[in-house]
Amino acid sequence: MYNRYSFSCTRCGQTHVCDTGCAFEVPYHYFNLSDEQKASLATLDTDFCSIKHDHQTDYFVRAVLEMPVHDDANLMYSWYVWVAIDEATWTAYQAFLRGEGPAINGAGWLANQLSAYPETLNLQVEFRPRAGGLRPLVFVQRIPQQMAHPLLQHQYGGFGVAQLQALSEHLVHANSTESPTNAD
Ligand SMILES: [Zn+2]
Repeated sequence: MYNRYSFSCTRCGQTHVCDTGCAFEVPYHYFNLSDEQKASLATLDTDFCSIKHDHQTDYFVRAVLEMPVHDDANLMYSWYVWVAIDEATWTAYQAFLRGEGPAINGAGWLANQLSAYPETLNLQVEFRPRAGGLRPLVFVQRIPQQMAHPLLQHQYGGFGVAQLQALSEHLVHANSTESPTNAD
């Protein structure tokens, strides 16, 4: 699913071979639960997560936030992120997956902190289901309070080879205890 590319690193001088994608195994909200809470309140598989609270249930779906590399058509960076969606959107999406309803776009909130970016938790996103077993796409919503966010700017055409390399250098040299991994 990922492409790989190599570049000469400005930090250490070595040539790194990197994936053009980064995957989060769990939503931030799940990551922060105790083991006991995970067992008693939450369900989790590769694409769906729910967390049951006293008065509400939070629903999360794994989706893809793509950042086209505008000056190299062969490159695309893919963030495999979790998105919080409301119960109606969750129900409609489950029906779509069972072939019992149409694909309905919905609103959601980003449920991971992306490395190398300012706060991305709870950024408002559009959630677009896709047919054919593909994960839903996620687009950062172009609303006034988010227009200056680098993630939004990168997704809508501000992401080039130089930004891709800077992101890759950050990920290569970042503390390896961070939760995202480069494995699918
Ligand atoms: Zn390096």
